[in-house]
Amino acid sequence: MDPNMPAPPEYRECFKCWYQGVTAAEKCPRCGRPMHTSSNIRNRGILNIVVGLFLAGFMSVIALWVAMMLTNAMKNPESAKKINGESGFLLAVYALFALVIVFGLHSVVIGAFQAITGRRSRVLIWIMWALLFGLLFAGGFLRAFL
Ligand SMILES: [Zn+2]
Repeated sequence: MDPNMPAPPEYRECFKCWYQGVTAAEKCPRCGRPMHTSSNIRNRGILNIVVGLFLAGFMSVIALWVAMMLTNAMKNPESAKKINGESGFLLAVYALFALVIVFGLHSVVIGAFQAITGRRSRVLIWIMWALLFGLLFAGGFLRAFL
């Protein structure tokens, strides 16, 4: 391959404005942001799968660990009373755990879609933003307890 030759046209898309097409352009003709090729999107998809699995797995372990601690503490009447008094807080904590796990699993879905198709799904990415927004909201809600 002659390095002076322009790259052959291939499928590319812009992550910013969603311009997509078969082109050799490395910058988006609409907004000037770098274009991403299918192989680039596939690699990002694989990274999404790895990070998503890690996030969901890690959070599940923490949730289980906290559940075990709570179960142990419930055996003691003194601390059981304390835990019952904090049930709203604990519920919020578990809602946050669940959201993080769902976010991780959704990241795996996005990654799988991208690894298979070499394209990004607009709907899946909207869902990701909605989940992220929910996470921030739940995090802020939780902080009210602390
Ligand atoms: Zn663009």
